[in-house]
Amino acid sequence: MSRTRPNVLFIMSDDHASHAISAYGSRINTTPQIDRISEGGMRFNNCFCTNSICTPSRATILTGTYNHINGVTTLSTHMDGRLLTYPKLMQQQGYQTAIVGKWHLGHGGIHDPTGFDYWNVLPGQGLYHNPVMIEMGEEKVREGYVTDLITDFSLDWLRQRDQDKPFCMMVHHKAPHRNWEPDDKHADMYEDEDIPEPVTFNDDYANRAKAAAAAKMRIDRDLTDKDLKQPVPEGLTPQEEKQWKYQRYIKDYLRCIASIDDNVGRLLDYLDEEGLTEDTIVIYTSDQGFFLGDHGWYDKRFMYEESLRMPFLIRYPRGIAPGSVNDDIILNVDFPATFVDYAGIDIPAAFQGNSFRALLQGETPDDWQTAMYYRYWMHGAHHNVYAHYGIRTLRHKLIYYYADPLDQEGAVGPTEEPEWELFDLTRDPHELVNVYDDPRYKDVIKTLKADLSHLQDTLGDTPYEP
Ligand code: CA
Repeated sequence: MSRTRPNVLFIMSDDHASHAISAYGSRINTTPQIDRISEGGMRFNNCFCTNSICTPSRATILTGTYNHINGVTTLSTHMDGRLLTYPKLMQQQGYQTAIVGKWHLGHGGIHDPTGFDYWNVLPGQGLYHNPVMIEMGEEKVREGYVTDLITDFSLDWLRQRDQDKPFCMMVHHKAPHRNWEPDDKHADMYEDEDIPEPVTFNDDYANRAKAAAAAKMRIDRDLTDKDLKQPVPEGLTPQEEKQWKYQRYIKDYLRCIASIDDNVGRLLDYLDEEGLTEDTIVIYTSDQGFFLGDHGWYDKRFMYEESLRMPFLIRYPRGIAPGSVNDDIILNVDFPATFVDYAGIDIPAAFQGNSFRALLQGETPDDWQTAMYYRYWMHGAHHNVYAHYGIRTLRHKLIYYYADPLDQEGAVGPTEEPEWELFDLTRDPHELVNVYDDPRYKDVIKTLKADLSHLQDTLGDTPYEP
């Protein structure tokens, strides 16, 4: 009955960068439970988000459209629940659907989750400890740690489901979002060790667009008392103080991830115990990447690699070879097309992404995408990252900081002078050298600008005009 249609268990955390997952070769932690998904399936090395910030990425993952189409361009623009989403399609075609955890697309009225038989979500960012959760419209305070609770409610729903129908469940963790509050169980992890610093920890932003130096997400300067949770020791040099702050930040971040890892293990164990593993597509991803001290930063938003890249691990024993690795470009906007494809549902024309089912079966189509389009709209807000758009290919990245809030809700002035950046990722994987003014890249720039313009045209976005 349900055997020809796989279950989908989509586990997504918030701000978990792939370089803090051991399946991706992390230098700073191990994630044995998350790695089980990779070992039993496929690891994507080039999965990217189309706008590196929470709310917009979540809207893209549900609707299969870019933010200029779904209207969710910033944290302040909430999703219209009447939009077509993949859970709605799955539900219409006989799937049982549920979402538990972080929603962050607004709530109340047209912003409540739609297309789900069951929903139990955090309002806004939610709390780490004893959070309020909104269960089918009703607010309740829940006692406990948020990562455990989200897993508890997910397991409760799985246990009571109709076993004659396939399920599609989204488990959305709040962790490891700022301000990185670990639970008691993991509070002492890494206590007696130093976590290695990233190679770009002391980036001075020389030779780049002024956007990099203008951003307010520096480890040495912008972490708050609430982030650090302990007073800075006296008598440190500025560099020692930066190093101390990095240790405070990264250890709490990794402790939050350790709890996610345990809880991913609980879900995988449940599938094993119930004999569901063979028939269930399991995904582990995050809504975007994060700077883990890279470029001297925390947070995300930039089109730089650590922020742009999403972890994407997927397991499906009936259709994906265990331990496989893929380097093709896939995007968050491609997820819905892929899921409905596996469910045997026609991919709607409104979905702008592409199903990567062929990639999962070990075959890359000749015409598979070799470039992606990115746009960050929330100019000036919070961390003062300038609005930008750009194109990333397998080798190059061209970024245009148009640096204008336009009329976007949540973006703020002032407007800055537009600037370009070009990185040659083969020669400069850490993106420290902007080669936009290097005459040797003249032809590359010409081609990339034409491709960028073509992508905007194809996807229905409008180039910036001052
Ligand atoms: Ca996020």
